[in-house]
Amino acid sequence: MTERDLRERIAEQGASLFDRGLTAGSSGNISVRLPDGMLVTPTNSCLGRLDPDRISRLDSVGNLLSGDKPSKEAFLHQSMYRARPQEEAIVHLHSTHSVAVSCLDGIDEDDVLPPITAYYVMRVGTLPLVPYFPPGDDSLAEAVEKAAGLSRAVLLSNHGPVVSGKSLDAAVNSTEELEETARLFLLLRHEQTRFLTEQQVSELQARFPN
Ligand code: ZN
Repeated sequence: MTERDLRERIAEQGASLFDRGLTAGSSGNISVRLPDGMLVTPTNSCLGRLDPDRISRLDSVGNLLSGDKPSKEAFLHQSMYRARPQEEAIVHLHSTHSVAVSCLDGIDEDDVLPPITAYYVMRVGTLPLVPYFPPGDDSLAEAVEKAAGLSRAVLLSNHGPVVSGKSLDAAVNSTEELEETARLFLLLRHEQTRFLTEQQVSELQARFPN
C-alpha cells in the first residue's frame, strides 16, 4: 500500500469504528508504521471525520514532519511498536465494554479475559493489564512497552485497550474481537460458564500461530 492508500484506509476505518459506536467524541487513535516513522491520527480529531491529508506523519523518534499536531497518546503507539517490531498498525479506543472491564477489581492482571471463544484466542490471545497512570505520566510508556512484549494487545487500567496487528485491518479486527469479548465477559460474569479448556487453547495456538 502507498502512503496515500494508508491515509485513506485510516480515515475509512476510523469512520467505521465511529459510526458503530466503538469510539465517541474525539477519543481513540489509529496509527500505521512507515519505514521511517508512522502515520497517526491528530490530537482532538474525531475518528468519524478524519481528513486523510491532515493525518500526522512522525519520524522514527516522534517529531512531526507533516499534517496536524499528533494525538497526545501517540507515545502509546511508539512504545508498542518498539516492543513489537513485527506489527504494522495500532488501534487504541475507549470502547465501552473494554473500558468497563479495565475498571473491575480482582481481575487477572496477567491475562484479563478468559478464553470465551476460539476467535478471541486467535485474534487477541493474551491480554495483560497495564497499571493506571495519570495522562502524560512517562511511566505509562514504559509499562506499555513491557506489557506489549508479551502480547499484541494490552489493556490500560481505567482507560482502554491498545491493540496491534500485522496490518491496519488486522489491528481493527482484533480490537473489535476484544470489545465483543469484553461485552460477553460482562454478560457472563454471574453465570455458570464453560470457557475453552487449556487443551483447546493449546490446539488453537498450534493450528493458528501468531
Ligand atoms: Zn486513551
